[in-house]
Amino acid sequence: MPFSRSDLQPLAEELSRAADQGLSLPIWWRDDDAVHPSAKLERLVTLTDQLGIRPLLAVIPAKASPALADWLSGGAADVAQHGYAHANHAPTGSKSCEFPASLSTDEARRLLRDGRRRMDAIFGRAWLPIFVPPWNRFGEAHRALLPACGFKVYSGFGEVAALPEGLQPLNVHIDIMRWRPERRFLGTEACLAALTREIALRRETISAKGTATAEPLGLMTHHLVHDEEAWAFLEALAEYLASAPAMRWVSAVNLVN
Ligand SMILES: [Zn+2]
Repeated sequence: MPFSRSDLQPLAEELSRAADQGLSLPIWWRDDDAVHPSAKLERLVTLTDQLGIRPLLAVIPAKASPALADWLSGGAADVAQHGYAHANHAPTGSKSCEFPASLSTDEARRLLRDGRRRMDAIFGRAWLPIFVPPWNRFGEAHRALLPACGFKVYSGFGEVAALPEGLQPLNVHIDIMRWRPERRFLGTEACLAALTREIALRRETISAKGTATAEPLGLMTHHLVHDEEAWAFLEALAEYLASAPAMRWVSAVNLVN
């Protein structure tokens, strides 16, 4: 699915403004819910490999198989911990969350540590101390547990939350899926509009503050649930941005201090 001219116009104009300012904005890729090797995962890493980057796979510790580690041993992707079991512990009527404020501190700590143990057992040292909370939600009261449990980076969605000392934010900003009422690709127009907004925000921040850099832009995907339209969009987007002077694809590992 190549983009149409009208689809692309606002993004092309924004990229041209950013290029005129001499910007080269980093964009990185996080893919969530990996548990086993699959043809879909293969499709994802084939795409990122063409861009010369590794995606950050948010792996669910309690569900992941050792076969995933074997499959990744070639270095096609980097790995982060995605909660513990991707189980919803939120009170009825609240948005899904594995670590809601209502969960006791002891229980939250136990889940984080059991998750780490499971990640170590599967991946050995071949995973990054990055925590990605399921549903991108994590009770504020539990955040101090993360550095204490050995995590150095927190990756949520959207605006950066207040984080405890020792925890670097590395958020994602674009979700290509629409989750309700039925799960499907969000649509080219909406995805490109969100991307255009995020690029404009960074260009404006850099020019207002006179700084050289802005928060890296994160793309979030879910390889297991993409429909064909979502894949076609990603393939077109990857190629289009790779040829845009104002943007550069980077691996998450290169954004971590
Ligand atoms: Zn998830």
